Amino acid sequence: MTHLATFAKEAGAHHTRELGRQADEHPPRLKAFNAQGERIDEVEFHPAYHQLMKIGLQGGVSSRAWTDPAGGQIAHAALLYMMSWADSGVTCPMSMTYAAQPILRRADWANGWAESARAPDYDPNAMPIEHKSAATIGMAMTEKQGGSDLRANTTRAHALSDDEVELVGHKWFCSAPMCDAFLTLAYEEGGLSCFLAPRWRPDGSRNQIEIQRLKDKMGDRSNASSEIEYRSAYARRIGAPGRGIATIIQMAHHTRYDCMIGSAAGMRQAVCRAAFHVSQRTAFQKTLIDQPLMRGVIADLTLESEAAIALTLRVGAGFDLSADNEREAALSRALTPLAKFWICKRQPDVVSEALECFGGVGFVEETGMARLFRTSPLNAIWEGSGNIMALDLQRALSDEAVRKVFNEELKRIAADIPETETLASKLRSERPDNLRLFAQQAALVFSADALTDPSLRKMYVQTRITHPTPIWGAFGVQVDLDNPIVRATSWMLG
Ligand SMILES: Cc1cc2nc3c(=O)[nH]c(=O)nc-3n(C[C@H](O)[C@H](O)[C@H](O)COP(=O)(O)OP(=O)(O)OC[C@H]3O[C@@H](n4cnc5c(N)ncnc54)[C@H](O)[C@@H]3O)c2cc1C
Repeated sequence: MTHLATFAKEAGAHHTRELGRQADEHPPRLKAFNAQGERIDEVEFHPAYHQLMKIGLQGGVSSRAWTDPAGGQIAHAALLYMMSWADSGVTCPMSMTYAAQPILRRADWANGWAESARAPDYDPNAMPIEHKSAATIGMAMTEKQGGSDLRANTTRAHALSDDEVELVGHKWFCSAPMCDAFLTLAYEEGGLSCFLAPRWRPDGSRNQIEIQRLKDKMGDRSNASSEIEYRSAYARRIGAPGRGIATIIQMAHHTRYDCMIGSAAGMRQAVCRAAFHVSQRTAFQKTLIDQPLMRGVIADLTLESEAAIALTLRVGAGFDLSADNEREAALSRALTPLAKFWICKRQPDVVSEALECFGGVGFVEETGMARLFRTSPLNAIWEGSGNIMALDLQRALSDEAVRKVFNEELKRIAADIPETETLASKLRSERPDNLRLFAQQAALVFSADALTDPSLRKMYVQTRITHPTPIWGAFGVQVDLDNPIVRATSWMLG
């Protein structure tokens, strides 16, 4: 059995889903002090959380892309997608650990960190990295006055040596604060730089990273998100001085990919649950799935979830090819913010409609739909909210090489799918006034292209490009619903 199939069995098992429910229902608690009143700044999790972390990390969610690089980013997507079904909260530290790898590989002194972060293991012990079998890595960028606007950060780095510093400042959102180290932005003389701040100082004492409190979040509840204070915390610069944003953006590129994967998984899960429910439930003498209006809704939601994973995998293939393919690297620069913008934005809409398919019971916690719904807006916010993605797309396209490849792709797609020609040619010539509209329209064209199944592609073009309507299942043209319905329900037979 291949690794992915083995992982699927474990991540998809009823027992694992149950762990996800437990981890979500028993959120982490801050243990700021020990009995003697000394700071320990630890977080206590339910045992189910640790078991999920073990399943994911030992299964390679954070490491596989780097330890087995041929097609590694696609394999990563498959693993993360499956893990998200069990619980999306635990995927946060897994994503950050995966995404830190390109940065950790930049400095010789960080080799040990890079190695520990890609070790396929989970070691929850709070102790120096030398004594651990594996590490997890977090990121601390957002401050109260600056999340999107990172240049507004005020955390200061005071030099101890050439590249060692002590950090002083507050970070307003730092998820998974039990990670072994945090990639952190702070100002030093040379400007805003990126640093790695470990939980333990080189002398083996606890680093002065104080967890002030854990956020009371609307979703993502198994995952701890914290406010932290650096009180002369030891850290070491990684990347060039003053190039902090350029350094950390390599991590953000990958976490944005993971946002797409997580959102695609959230949508697919919602649709499968809805499809299952309406296949069992009878109303007005018919199983709901056979009621024409419900067929349309399920088909439409299925199409959206299929388009989301198809576009995500197109981005992943670009990541895999980028190392020795300049064209793919340039295209990837534009497709990443574009796909993050679109896919993450679709998630709450899809989940909400899927929840409605359940009727009243969808509003009740036991179905799991409320949990899916509460978490559904998260990926659109984290790692660059919608407007920031639209602005980043514009920034990417201001690079001539990127714009050229982007336009060439639009031209190729228009040739392959003639119905996209009008929109694609507008996008090729446009210096857009409305970046959100530009991003939306470009995402539709690239999504249609990413869908390789001919009948799904046809339906996507008909319902999103040539005859769009804002309501799920409200088609302005005759569409073939059979294929998406089969794709939404066939798994129930096996
Ligand atoms: C569950 C969760 C976990 C998180 N974990 C982490 C973490 O581990 N580490 C970390 O560093 N951060 C983390 N964050 C923070 C997150 O990355 C930020 O919240 C996000 O980047 C937005 O920043 P902000 O909250 O300061 O919003 P703001 O920057 O104030 O933005 C508010 C709104 O204004 C929009 N906006 C901003 N600038 C412009 C503009 N120029 N034009 C038009 N619109 C604009 C944004 O798109 C957004 O919709 C987390 C957030 C959440 C919800």
